[in-house]
Amino acid sequence: MHELSFVVRIIDIAEKEARKAGSKSISKIELDIGKLSTIEPLAFDMAWKCGIKYSMLQDAECVINYITGTAICMDCENKFELSEYGTPCPNCGCYHSQIIEGKDLLVKSISVN
Ligand SMILES: [Zn+2]
Repeated sequence: MHELSFVVRIIDIAEKEARKAGSKSISKIELDIGKLSTIEPLAFDMAWKCGIKYSMLQDAECVINYITGTAICMDCENKFELSEYGTPCPNCGCYHSQIIEGKDLLVKSISVN
């Protein structure tokens, strides 16, 4: 379950930001999770609940936006959405594309108390 390592990293980032702002607790955190990332929503949720215990995020509201994947076709330069790897370009049907969005996990915003 590698989701826990993501959670640990997120907590680390969030706590650093909160400390910078002179706060001791975080009220809300917003995350962008790419649908093409390797994160399983269910496993992430479990890891999250377990990971935030005794952290500054203990009582934080967690908002997760799942970001749809976007790719650019290398042959016809068509930009298209995809929900999994290996999706052909809907315009020309080729598999030669580059993912430009939806692979990452980002901390979008943090609200501190
Ligand atoms: Zn194409």
